[in-house]
Amino acid sequence: MSGMRFFDTHCHYADNAFDADIDLCVQKARTAGLAGALVCTCSGHEYEAASALAQRLNLSFAAGAFDFSSSPQIAPQRMLEQLSSAIDRFSPCAVGEIGIDGKHLKTEFEAPALALFTGAIEIASDNNLPVSVHARGAMHVIARILKAHASTSLKGVIHAFNGSLEEAEIFVRLGFKLGFGSILTNPAAKRAARVFAALRSGSWVIETDAPFMVPCTKKMNPAAKSEPLDLIETLKAAAALRGITIEAAAEESSQAALEVFPMLKTEISSQKNID
Ligand SMILES: [Zn+2]
Repeated sequence: MSGMRFFDTHCHYADNAFDADIDLCVQKARTAGLAGALVCTCSGHEYEAASALAQRLNLSFAAGAFDFSSSPQIAPQRMLEQLSSAIDRFSPCAVGEIGIDGKHLKTEFEAPALALFTGAIEIASDNNLPVSVHARGAMHVIARILKAHASTSLKGVIHAFNGSLEEAEIFVRLGFKLGFGSILTNPAAKRAARVFAALRSGSWVIETDAPFMVPCTKKMNPAAKSEPLDLIETLKAAAALRGITIEAAAEESSQAALEVFPMLKTEISSQKNID
């Protein structure tokens, strides 16, 4: 695997779960080929620490506006104001995490969730920034909103994609890539495996969502978290499903990552000197 490079296109390395060990986790992954990562955030209180962490570890910062809670507390307008000012203050290389979760649809929180996502898309378009989109359980709603913005040059990733091949095609035609993580290593996730194997080349990227989206091999331990090095297992599964080598899978996903997030910082490890 010498010289292999790969990117984590969606992670939360500034999460408290990494307070004690993010430097070590990134360092371990660097020696395996981690070239960069998009450190995502969901709201204003995270921006400063995540931006500083990304800078310290030579990773990339994304400013997001997304409320995953069951009863959103902060008004969408306030979150969007904070997002706008973060773009001036921290110069993020993308806008994310943004999106809609299926649990908010058909509830009193559907309208604020739609307002927040639509507003975030407009801020990203105005600033010419790509987006990382949470679409779990809401693929059809996200697709409809993105189609309405199709005249802009908006690009991005549908994070943790778990839709059908038809939905994948819709997003790819809109200029989006599809993000896959530990779901590929789960033998029970048969549809995801089938869809992934049939995707057109260059349309997918890999991600951990770390510390979330814990691989099924770690789930026996309730304290387990995902970490950047888990991408090696994801790449092995991706390569097996597509009938290519792990190096080819790493390179295909890296090129797709840089295409959609051209400002991702890239650091090639000095692995050649080690082995
Ligand atoms: Zn996330």
